[in-house]
Amino acid sequence: MDVAKLIRPEIMALAPYTVQEQSGYIKLDAMESPYPWPDELKTAWLDRIATLEINRYPDATHADLKQQVRTFFDVPADMQLLFGNGSDELIQMLLMAVAGSNRTVLSVEPTFTMYRIIGAALGINYQAVALNTHDFSLDVPAMLEAIQHTQPAIVFLSYPNNPTGNNFDKASIREIIRAAEGLVVVDEAYYAFTQDSMLSDLGQFDNLLVMRTLSKVGMAGLRFGILAGPNEWLEQLNKIRLPYNINALTQTSIRFVMDNFAVFQKQVDSICQQREWLTEQLLTQSGVVKVYPSEANFITFKLQQGSAEAVFAGLKEHKVLIKKLHGSSAMLDDCLRVTVGTEEENKAFMQALAVVATINGD
Ligand SMILES: *Cc1c(COP(=O)(O)O)cnc(C)c1O
Repeated sequence: MDVAKLIRPEIMALAPYTVQEQSGYIKLDAMESPYPWPDELKTAWLDRIATLEINRYPDATHADLKQQVRTFFDVPADMQLLFGNGSDELIQMLLMAVAGSNRTVLSVEPTFTMYRIIGAALGINYQAVALNTHDFSLDVPAMLEAIQHTQPAIVFLSYPNNPTGNNFDKASIREIIRAAEGLVVVDEAYYAFTQDSMLSDLGQFDNLLVMRTLSKVGMAGLRFGILAGPNEWLEQLNKIRLPYNINALTQTSIRFVMDNFAVFQKQVDSICQQREWLTEQLLTQSGVVKVYPSEANFITFKLQQGSAEAVFAGLKEHKVLIKKLHGSSAMLDDCLRVTVGTEEENKAFMQALAVVATINGD
């Protein structure tokens, strides 16, 4: 069989999304919540799940869920909601809706890779404008120039940005929204860990959509993403949504989670405290030359030139798994990214780092 004859060249050219081997490691690589559910919460959840009729299709309209999400996230009353099997699926729906050979999607570099990967799979031209190197802020003149030049169908902005951890300046985002003739999607995957949001800007611009997910606050395994924005856009996107994209277990579980969010909010608060502790520790660690301020549940830091591979490998030998950013983009040379874990996990990470960064420093 000649696979390459049948499969589109843009798919053949893609590198597969890889997930690192993970058993037995302290897992600080994927921005998950480190906390398992407390036992009494698990029991109450299982009672709720037990009432489901799994032989039936799930609610395709998500009506009850929508009502609750609207209140939970304080979505402006005149805005609509659309749910995805993770926000990854929402990105896919957005790109499917605009796909075409003469269409461009614009984002920044470095940022979340799925905008590019899904775009490539759909044959969409992907452009990325480099962030300012010293602080990873938006290069506004370059963004405006790219918007004018490429007329992007969609601009994606991760806010805070993954993998740099910073929020972009709101006035700059608004300038971009005004300049763009296409959609601007503000991806607030890390909304829980920052005070800032563009959600209240919804409705002030007819081309702004805001996306969120519950993955980073403890529900990564359930797969639930949220898109909020004007109905005229969402009603079109809804046409390409698979009718049963949010399964019955997820719908019921997410409602349960929102009913009991106090438990998860406490965990988020601990993560934010631990982020400050980790930042301080990293700042005084020899071998670490820069720590980027973070408003998310991860921290990106830069090591002495040429040491990132060895430090990453050394941490793995100490059974600590983080993310190697070095090699993924020229702007991330010598950089690693650690997800904030529990107090014990963070201590274990710092202990291991103290050993391996010192060996590999000078
Ligand atoms: C993790 C992440 C997502 C994907 O989240 P899911 O809801 O789990 O699909 C989207 N955008 C950014 C910026 C992320 O970091």
